Amino acid sequence: MKACKNCHRLTEAPICQICQMPTSKTWQGYVVVSDPERSMIAHRMNITKKGKYALKVR
Ligand SMILES: [Zn+2]
Repeated sequence: MKACKNCHRLTEAPICQICQMPTSKTWQGYVVVSDPERSMIAHRMNITKKGKYALKVR
């Protein structure tokens, strides 16, 4: 899996489908967001769509 450098979303694609930014293989940890509107982490990371997100992306 790779992570988007902008929104941190995990994907297999070389370009993030949400924000069209390049993805990186270098990332650490991930969080599963199932309810973005009620998740503190989602709010802090500006996540508005549910899915898996990397905590750190380089
Ligand atoms: Zn993205």
